[in-house]
Amino acid sequence: MITVEDPFAVLGVAPKASREEIRTAYRRLAMRWHPDRNPSPAASAEFKRVHAAYELLLDDERLAVWQQARHGATTDRAAVGDDLVQPLTLTLEQAAAGCQRTVELPHRVRCSSCAGSGRVHHSHSVPCPACSGCGRVVRAGGRTARCDTCAGHGYLRETACTDCAGSGWQDQPRTLEVTVPPALLAGERLRLARQAPLPPGDELKVAGDLYLEISLAVHELFVLSGLDLHCPIPVSIFRLLCGGRIEVPTLGGTTWIELPPPSPTAGEHRLAGLGFPGKGERAAGDLVLHPQAIHPRLAAREDFQLLELLEWRLAADLESRAPLLADWQQRLRARRDGPVV
Ligand SMILES: [Zn+2]
Ligand SMILES: [Zn+2]
Repeated sequence: MITVEDPFAVLGVAPKASREEIRTAYRRLAMRWHPDRNPSPAASAEFKRVHAAYELLLDDERLAVWQQARHGATTDRAAVGDDLVQPLTLTLEQAAAGCQRTVELPHRVRCSSCAGSGRVHHSHSVPCPACSGCGRVVRAGGRTARCDTCAGHGYLRETACTDCAGSGWQDQPRTLEVTVPPALLAGERLRLARQAPLPPGDELKVAGDLYLEISLAVHELFVLSGLDLHCPIPVSIFRLLCGGRIEVPTLGGTTWIELPPPSPTAGEHRLAGLGFPGKGERAAGDLVLHPQAIHPRLAAREDFQLLELLEWRLAADLESRAPLLADWQQRLRARRDGPVV
């Protein structure tokens, strides 16, 4: 006994269809697919499928079992389709805070052009394309034989439906609204029970589970390392030297931090807990800011005068304020004054 997954889909009727509607849909499909009437190789399997769906819909007890299986618990009587893993790419912000996403899944429905039969009935006969209307085909060795496609008649009243290539099914992707919980990291999976699409031929099974595997899109500002967020921040060389308040980005917006004076140009500033959010036992990461010194173009004469003044004052106290530079000048002096050995 075949266990029917979605008999409504197999018959192409609404889940609330009346017995009469179900019977009509069944009769139409059974006529189309009955092996006595339909020469295509797929017809007999399709007929069995349609018949199994119809039987299930008429059997209240079995239908109840199927409906129960669909809404959670698997029963021994239900064959289960494969689980499916599908990637889901999130921005850092979406992953951190959680979000609503629409996911598109492959889904097949009965072809509307041929009512799922895969065949189109013509009011006038059309010449058989396999034998060009003569009823006989040339076989290997040059001998002719009766054309199987038209049973030797040379004409057809039915041809394969072009909209579904004779399969009786059409792809009609379905969308799924998904609530993504906060703080999922790349590689983690979100399980959606019984939502895996069933591949062709498996429509009669209970759907398997769909897993959405999270990946994170490259961010314009932040680089995630472990749970820490790293961010280069451009700061004027004057501000870096003076220290002071600067505005910096966070995952949720911006915040202000106090740069200590005098800041080294390449130090990092760590804001505890402002990185990727924690979850359960896992603590939140840090936001690590990497100031990048920006050397501005000088605009006015006063700018140069101020800097000249700073340079002049520095020269007077080089040993303690810039020992590296004092050492360098010492070496230059040695070369200038004595022979280079
Ligand atoms: Zn069709
Ligand atoms: Zn023919």
